[in-house]
Amino acid sequence: MSEIGLAELTRKIAKVSDTYAQRCNIKRDDDWYLIKIGEELGELNAEYLRITQRGRLDASRSMENVREAMEDELADVFA
Ligand SMILES: [Mg+2]
Repeated sequence: MSEIGLAELTRKIAKVSDTYAQRCNIKRDDDWYLIKIGEELGELNAEYLRITQRGRLDASRSMENVREAMEDELADVFA
């Protein structure tokens, strides 16, 4: 596994965020960032509650699936 510097990681995450905004035609003004991070934190919290067996778990989902979803939501928070 190669190491990545903070500046490079920031650049890559910003690129993902820019692509998301462009594809979804989203204007990212000041309050959007605050509201969006709240939304993504809520999604991360829901997956965390599931993986710690304190949230509702759909029977079709495995714990591996929940873990992957939690990792994806953590990435969304950063992006
Ligand atoms: Mg999300």
